[in-house]
Amino acid sequence: MKQFWQQKSSEEIKRQIFYALGENVSYSQESILGVPGSYLDEKVFTHDAGFLKDAPYLSTLLRNPNHIGVHTLGSSEPFFQGTQAIEKELIDICAVDILAGEPDAYDGYVASGGTEANMQALWMYRNYFQTNLQAKGSEIAIMASADAHYSIDKAANVLGLPLYKVAVEQDSRELTPENVAETVQRAQQDGKKYFIVVATMMTTMFGSVDDPKLFTDVLKAQNIPFKLHVDGAYGGFYFPFTSISHQLNFQNPDVSSVTLDAHKMVQAPYGTGIFICRKGLIENVHTREASYVEGEDYTLIGSRSGANAIAIWMILATYGPFGWEEKIYILQKRAAWLCKQLEEAGIQFYRHPGSNIITIKSEFIPEEVAHKYWLVPDRHHATQWQKIVIMEHVTIEKLMPLVEELKKVERV
Ligand SMILES: *Cc1c(COP(=O)(O)O)cnc(C)c1O
Repeated sequence: MKQFWQQKSSEEIKRQIFYALGENVSYSQESILGVPGSYLDEKVFTHDAGFLKDAPYLSTLLRNPNHIGVHTLGSSEPFFQGTQAIEKELIDICAVDILAGEPDAYDGYVASGGTEANMQALWMYRNYFQTNLQAKGSEIAIMASADAHYSIDKAANVLGLPLYKVAVEQDSRELTPENVAETVQRAQQDGKKYFIVVATMMTTMFGSVDDPKLFTDVLKAQNIPFKLHVDGAYGGFYFPFTSISHQLNFQNPDVSSVTLDAHKMVQAPYGTGIFICRKGLIENVHTREASYVEGEDYTLIGSRSGANAIAIWMILATYGPFGWEEKIYILQKRAAWLCKQLEEAGIQFYRHPGSNIITIKSEFIPEEVAHKYWLVPDRHHATQWQKIVIMEHVTIEKLMPLVEELKKVERV
């Protein structure tokens, strides 16, 4: 039974969103004199089209609420409290009903994407180690698999922390205890004493899923302080619905934070990354200098559109938890179909059983075929792998011609 996530009719969704908009300030009916914000420009964007009364997301875009700050902590800007309450409910749905946490035990917000949510996590842990354990910046390391997303490299660069990558096995894309231990040792030789670990729930290129125990066992055995972040930017709305047991949610006491992207598998507008962490951590990135913002700021981004949270909430409420499971079930079925075809044709590929990414060894795909079907390579020079992502629009009918072409390829 889900605690926060319920399927709702479109009438009910409309009623709730328009009610929330009614709880936000009205720039037209009240005297809002102190903020640098208003409705989307009415000369450019029509506000009086008849269909808007049936279009809660577009109406929210036009009303342009600012969700600056974090709304799971108590006080925030009162101007937009109606739609901010929906964002809070969205965070509850993700933390409790998707990531198996306890109610009221998490903070979070809708970030600009997975990149920001990951950076927010690493920023939080860097400060945590510095403030709580008096770590020096030079003693903190980030550790992730070699298949981790490049946003981790980017965050490491911005935060001025080194990133230690753990090699993975070529065909299984898995970490090994030996490779983790070797990486930890290498970092220790560089004077690193505190570890920020990123485990990925579906890597971008392979859909592979890290077992976080491989990281934490090594660190625990040596009593090394660490914090564990889960990068579920890709898999957060997919993998938990495939009924594969795993250690990448809040049931695992070592997991302190998670990134989920709604603008990938959820088909929400871009700008819908979700950051969630256990309570008591986000204070490490409290920017008290944000004194003009009520409730101050705990996010990297600052001002952000409230319409993003509304879009995600509307999608999740439309499907409901069972509808979402069915949607993922269908994508899994198609992925299984494709894998079967590839196996029968003797084409080598990687697929994690809980993922909708099928990554084919490039020697089995002529360059022009990969091009024709818009497959994505691991890299654009010396390509080794090409991937297919089973999205809603990637039907078996769309996959069939590719399979037929691949079967005809002559192999030596
Ligand atoms: C896409 C992705 C990201 C980055 O997300 P953006 O939303 O593009 O910023 C981070 N991690 C993983 C695993 C991803 O697949």
